[in-house]
Amino acid sequence: MKYLTDDRIAIEIGDLTKLDVTAVVNAANSGLLGGGGVDGAIHRAGGTEILAECIKIRETIYPNGMPAGNAVVTTAGKMKAEYVIHTVGPVWHGGNSNEPEILRNAYINSLKAAAEKKMESVAFPAISTGVYRFPKNKAARIAFSAAREFAAKSEYPKKIIFVFFSESDRETFIRAIKQD
Ligand code: ADP
Repeated sequence: MKYLTDDRIAIEIGDLTKLDVTAVVNAANSGLLGGGGVDGAIHRAGGTEILAECIKIRETIYPNGMPAGNAVVTTAGKMKAEYVIHTVGPVWHGGNSNEPEILRNAYINSLKAAAEKKMESVAFPAISTGVYRFPKNKAARIAFSAAREFAAKSEYPKKIIFVFFSESDRETFIRAIKQD
């Protein structure tokens, strides 16, 4: 694995559901009961244990659904990872509806959840850049700065990994963060 700037943040190509990390982050929707994209892939790979915990979370903490920007932890079921950190990114409506702030919260609150459990490694998908249509380069800058700032002040998670399905998405991310 190649690490950027320091040995805490990595940018990889691959399938999030197959990684040997402490937690994978799910780009979930507020309902928390599964969906398309990476959400569907995580529930398929992890099995019904994840859904069972999500149902309990809906019944207890978030009866009306989890608001965008929040994060919650469940088991990862049959995946190699131990946990899934479910977060909800913003749907892109043009950029004037607090989308950048909500996306940043999604990353920061996921990292806080990881730090609370002293997780070693956490792998993120490109939250909101699929069906939620957040522009990929803007999302990259928000994701990377959130990770860098969090890593600077928190010992955990020790490794933060951004995982992309395609080489072109990975390149877009790297190009975007180098523009800073
Ligand atoms: P959102 O609803 O937050 O936009 P999506 O699941 O539609 O989330 O997409 C988020 C990103 O995750 C997309 O760039 C998509 O290509 C990517 N993705 C989907 N499945 C996987 C996977 N198994 N591993 C890594 N990335 C994935």
